[in-house]
Amino acid sequence: MKLTHIEHIGIAVNNIEESVKYYEDILGLKCYAIEEVKDQKVKTAFFMLGQTKIELLESTDPEGPIGKFVAKKGEGVHHLAFAVEGIEGALEELSNKGVQLVDQKPRKGAEGLDIAFLHPKSTGGVLTELCENKNKS
Ligand code: ZN
Repeated sequence: MKLTHIEHIGIAVNNIEESVKYYEDILGLKCYAIEEVKDQKVKTAFFMLGQTKIELLESTDPEGPIGKFVAKKGEGVHHLAFAVEGIEGALEELSNKGVQLVDQKPRKGAEGLDIAFLHPKSTGGVLTELCENKNKS
């Protein structure tokens, strides 16, 4: 399995517009995309920093994964996403090594990436996402 870099850090927020202000006005980053991912019941906002993105996640449904997370733990870091080459092979390898997968197969995430989550029980408590951008060569 080949991880290449930290693709993004996912941060759960109550209100994406309010949070974007902090990242733009205080930290001086620029939000380059806001996108709703209906499948995940979230609205996302993205900032680029080097090769790594910050992905803000606001729930659009209290019963969705981010809605439940925020209700339980409040705002904060939600997941860590690694860029990987060959996501299918990586999932197979991880599964063979006993890592519990949330997604057995990759699915489409924000920005058209192929993504899959690993269960935090198997990753030292860190909800971990693998991402592969098959659109860019
Ligand atoms: Zn993510």
